Order: sequence, then structure tokens, then C-alpha cells
Amino acid sequence: MRFIDEFRNPELAEALVDRIKKRSTRDVRLMEFCGSHTVAIFKFGIRQLMPPTVEMLSGPGCPVCVTDTADIDKAIAMAQLPGVILCTFGVMLKVPGTLTSLQQAKAEGSDVRIVYSTVDALEIARKNKEKNVIFLGVGFETTIPTIAASVLQAEGECIENYYVFSLAKLCPPVMKALLEAGEVILDGIICPGHVSAIIGSKPYGFIPRDYGISCVVSGFEPLDILQAIDMLISQIEEGKPRVEIAYRRGVSPEGNTKALELMKQVFKVCQTRWRGVGEVPQSGLRLRGKYQRFNAEIKFPVETTKSREPKGCLCGHVLRGVKKPTDCTLFSQECTLEHPVGPCMVSYEGACSTYYLYGSDEGG
Ligand code: SF4
Repeated sequence: MRFIDEFRNPELAEALVDRIKKRSTRDVRLMEFCGSHTVAIFKFGIRQLMPPTVEMLSGPGCPVCVTDTADIDKAIAMAQLPGVILCTFGVMLKVPGTLTSLQQAKAEGSDVRIVYSTVDALEIARKNKEKNVIFLGVGFETTIPTIAASVLQAEGECIENYYVFSLAKLCPPVMKALLEAGEVILDGIICPGHVSAIIGSKPYGFIPRDYGISCVVSGFEPLDILQAIDMLISQIEEGKPRVEIAYRRGVSPEGNTKALELMKQVFKVCQTRWRGVGEVPQSGLRLRGKYQRFNAEIKFPVETTKSREPKGCLCGHVLRGVKKPTDCTLFSQECTLEHPVGPCMVSYEGACSTYYLYGSDEGG
């Protein structure tokens, strides 16, 4: 199966749905960890196709949404420094900090530039040698190798004015934190496809082993997701939780060893703060000692006011899977796609924007 149409074949989808309905005899709760899966599940109406026994929840897998307000405040303060060009992905501009946003800072004169990758940020650094260029490094394992590569490139080219503010985050440790907290009871997890293309499926081994929860890595097309759900239901019905891959064309158990080596060469694992979850051990990455001269937090130690979440916003609860976007009284009232209050409405992968765009009728 090589073309998108083949992953959207209605007859195959129907057959998978039938199989899920036949196999599913007990009530189960499945979480799709990744925001891209949430979007695909809603876009293709997959929740409505599920039998009443299958409940589906959205997880915290949106790197924009889980970036803590204190870190947004810090990025804004860096952007406001004279002589700084702050480069980041477009979606980050609208994420609200405590008092303002990068978009507002830009409107007030800060040099904030939208880039599509670190390649663009490096080029801006080459062309603006008299300025300090900071790349705001938000992302999961999918993005981190490109940030690591940019640091090595800057070192190789002796680019003196390039810095990284690393807000990179690792997915398996936050999964562990959520399961340890025990706030949300799960039977199965649809594991992220893009992240797993880098880390492989092995790092999820602790989930069935320590928590008895089934895991299947899925791609992002409807048939990928239906197949993953079918495999999860089979595992659960058999009472044999394990890690499986329903996305063999993109993911292997070992992952992308070159990308992993690159990450390890440049970054070391550290504790970091996730919106809604708090401090999570071993879930962040900071530059190794050898690359400290690229560390924006060291070069630009900014002071910020005490950070706080937008008033009334339940993003933290939504990200932990303990509330749905529709539980928030601001949803579709004060908080809309045009005027987002919290990051889960700002980001295209956020649960709130997905509910808003595709509706919240969940079936099942
Ligand atoms: Fe936050 Fe808006 Fe979602 Fe409410 S609807 S949780 S304010 S993003």
C-alpha cells in the first residue's frame, strides 16, 4: 500500500470497523497520545464508528500545548531584548504568555520571525551577523534531531550569533508520569507515529510491563488508526498487553539510530516542566557542556514576572485527559479559533481546536 487513497479505502475501513465491533466485548478506554491522531480521528469521524464499548480520550501529545507558560514568558522576554532576533514556528506566536504573546511583542517592535525549520534560523543568523539569533526549540523527538543538527552546523561553520532555547520534550517519560499519577484509567494507548519513527517502539515497553496497558504505534491515515484500534482491542480481549506496531512503513522497534545518536551527541536528558503535568523527570533535553555556548538561557538570562495560566482555561486538565474541551466554560464562547484563550485552541493539533473545528459528538 503506497498511496494515500489506499489508506482511505472505505471497504477496508468498514471491514476493520466490523471486526472491532465483533471483537470488543468489554468496556475499554483508549487514549491517543498524539495531537495529530486526535485531528485524524475527528476529521475522519472515527469516534462515531466505534461500538459503545470503546471510549476514546485525547492525550497531551501537542508540543505547543504542553509548553509551560513560564517558558513562553521567558521566550517573550528574550525576544524583547535589544539586538535579538527570535525565530520560531508560526503557531508559537499566538500562544498566550502571562502578560502578552510573541505576536504582541512583535507588533510592539520585537524582531520575532516565523521559520519553517532550523535551516531558516541558521540562514537568518548568517545574514544578520550583528544580531543574536535565538531559535525557540519547541518539539518532541520528531523535531529534536533537526535542532541538534543545527547546533552542529553552527559549530562547523563557526556561526557565533546562533543560540537555541531548548524546550524539547520526550514522550515516554510524560506517559509514565500520567500513568503514575493514576488520574486517568486506561486500557490501551495509540502511540505516536512520528515520534516513534525516531525512538522506535521499544521505549514503550514499560507501559504493558509495569501498568498492564496495551500499546500500538499508529500512522495517521484512517486505516492506520482503525488497524491500531483493532490490534489494541485484540490485545485487551486476549488479556495480553504488549507493544505492537501498526505503522511498519514508518516505524521499527529500534527507531532511527542515526537521529538518536545525533540527539545524544548534542543534548543530555534533564527534568522539565510540562503544562498541566508539572515537573517530569528525564523528560527534557538541555545542551551538553561542549555546546553550552549555543545555550540561549545562559547567554540571555532574562527575568520574568510570576507566570500564570489564562483565567478559566482548563488546558492543563485537557492535556492530562481528565477533562474534555467541552468541559471548559470558555470553549466556543470566549475561546474560539479566531480568539484563542489557551494553547489547546491555538495549536492545530490541540484538542480544543480539534473539537471546535470538527465538532465534539464523540459517538461510542
Ligand atoms: Fe483553554 Fe480554550 Fe481549551 Fe478552555 S477551550 S481549555 S480556554 S484552550
